[in-house]
Amino acid sequence: MNELTKNDLPSSKTNLKKHQLPPLTYGYEALAPYIDEHTLFLHHDIHHGGYVEKLNKALEKAPEYQDASALWLLCNLDKLPKETMVAVHHNAGGHVNHSLFWRAMRPDASAGPKGLFRDAINRDFGSVEEFKLRFDEEGANLFGSGWVWLVWAPKDDGKLEVVTTYGHDNPMMKGQFPLLLNDVWEHAYYLHYESRRPDYLKAWWSVVDWEEASRRFDLSSNSTEELWEAEGGVLLVT
Ligand code: MN
Repeated sequence: MNELTKNDLPSSKTNLKKHQLPPLTYGYEALAPYIDEHTLFLHHDIHHGGYVEKLNKALEKAPEYQDASALWLLCNLDKLPKETMVAVHHNAGGHVNHSLFWRAMRPDASAGPKGLFRDAINRDFGSVEEFKLRFDEEGANLFGSGWVWLVWAPKDDGKLEVVTTYGHDNPMMKGQFPLLLNDVWEHAYYLHYESRRPDYLKAWWSVVDWEEASRRFDLSSNSTEELWEAEGGVLLVT
């Protein structure tokens, strides 16, 4: 069984000097009525844009890490100068997680997972419906701000698991590979759903890009090096 270690993670993002906000591949209105246009605009341009800006700002004080990818930074916080560690933790995490999040959704989404991915969900959760209920329950119960994830857990016999993280932590920090994620920070849903986070979680399934989750599931059968390489590739634009 593969074991994910941060040492295999490619450290260089590209020759770009600064991190950049990846553009959405759909319009701000494309996920309505499940995610409204104004929420998506604020979430992408202002919140995610803000993390990118603050990450670049923090790295001005650590020029030797300006070429590092956001994912590498997030998984190697202990190597950073102490005075930049907190800002890089929050903002590299915000950048990585939101970059994954935009890709996890699409307009006209398909109904559910297929093939081997579906089989693995059935194996580890009983059924797709039970998996979704579990995911929604964990997301609703998370106290404060954070994320709910479906991960592949190589240290746990390659099972699929639902986990949550606080702030902008990412399961890769613990060697788990994310397949699907939802943002349960209030900024993700409050304008439309107010305090009804469970309603947001339930509605969100209508815009899940199962092909992307399935693509990520397929990656998990690759070698660790190939997997990190692919993930580095996904986040190259960051
Ligand atoms: Mn967010």
